[in-house]
Amino acid sequence: MPNLQRHTLLISCAFAFCLVSCTRPTLPQKTDTLEGIASGKTRVIDLSYAINDKLVAWPGDPKVFEAKVNGTVEKDGYFTRSFWMLEHYGTHLDAPAHFPPGKSTVEQIAPEKFFGPAVVLDIRADAEKNADYQLSPAVIDAWEKKHGRIPAGAIVILRTGWTSRWPDVQRYRNTDTKGEMHFPGFSVDAAKILLDRKISGLGCDTLSIDPGNSKDFPVHHLVLGADVYQLENLRDLTNVPEAGAFLVVAPIKLEGGSGGAVRVFALDSHP
Ligand SMILES: [Zn+2]
Repeated sequence: MPNLQRHTLLISCAFAFCLVSCTRPTLPQKTDTLEGIASGKTRVIDLSYAINDKLVAWPGDPKVFEAKVNGTVEKDGYFTRSFWMLEHYGTHLDAPAHFPPGKSTVEQIAPEKFFGPAVVLDIRADAEKNADYQLSPAVIDAWEKKHGRIPAGAIVILRTGWTSRWPDVQRYRNTDTKGEMHFPGFSVDAAKILLDRKISGLGCDTLSIDPGNSKDFPVHHLVLGADVYQLENLRDLTNVPEAGAFLVVAPIKLEGGSGGAVRVFALDSHP
């Protein structure tokens, strides 16, 4: 090998080594997010409502939640309760089996799907003007122009601002005199794009992924049919950034469940 070529090769190798080793410390490390929890560098945002008998339920069920005291410290030396609740109550997960038959029930969803980058689509301004607003594909387009293509495994959340109405039943359901509810949701066209991105889950801060005035729940059919789970009644999303946070979704492992209570956390390492 001529000397000049060997010299160039050496420089190239040194440059490649430097790319790997020298730049590593400045790149955001995946583990930073988790390690930052203990030090307080990573903010943990709780996106679930505490469960009690006063949450806004989907209309129609006479009983939504009940807790009974079984043991008291005074009488039994320990405190225990039993409780009963709807599967779809408060902050909850819709398992794919909720609509199309033969799909996964809660305990069958692969645990890997419960961890993913959070994509927040903000429609607060549109929802304030029009309670029946359905997510326009243009919002997804704008998000991707700003932050890049939605990555596979993302958990996509719709921020409508509806949490400011919680837990006022009338304002949250926004039912008109004919008994029809009015709150914003995903459109079929937007959901198709998101499924094309191979997302793991879809979530919202309202009673349903479909808008309130929907009669046949087309987004539920489409999304659950693709074996993607949904999150409904998420708590205040104000502090979750549009991009850059990481979501942890921890549903109750209820065998055969069509859905169930879920604890959702957003981890933000760049607050
Ligand atoms: Zn549900």
